[in-house]
Amino acid sequence: MYDLNNVAHDFPWTAVPNQGSPVEPWRNPGSNWFDELPEGWGDVIHAYLLQLDMLVRRNRWYIYVAQVKEKFGTLRFYVDILDAEGLPCYADSAEDVKRFYELVHEMESETGRVCCHCGTREDVRCYGGWIHYACPSCEERVRDEIA
Ligand SMILES: [Zn+2]
Repeated sequence: MYDLNNVAHDFPWTAVPNQGSPVEPWRNPGSNWFDELPEGWGDVIHAYLLQLDMLVRRNRWYIYVAQVKEKFGTLRFYVDILDAEGLPCYADSAEDVKRFYELVHEMESETGRVCCHCGTREDVRCYGGWIHYACPSCEERVRDEIA
């Protein structure tokens, strides 16, 4: 399983922006947005970041990551693409921009198709309370640990 603690190191463009985050001001510029996400998401996030990384390099974009979090059991990745003049690129402006946002949305929904604990795609179900997606054996194990 890919370790989400390595994201900012392996994909520096995903880090907290230089001026920090207006949404989460306690986060340091350059730090990792991904370290508190469910570890079972590691491989899904890694696979998509590799594809996004290709687009970012090819187009020499500046990426502004406004926030990354878990909400209602899936990933939220709020991100703007800025061009060389610092102007935002919109999803309808170019093939690569469109593709970038398609991949971001796919990545977000794919996190709901794997167990947030172990990453399996087998028999993943939605559990309530804190809404999350997991496989029954992890769910049982985690419940026993809490009890
Ligand atoms: Zn599991």
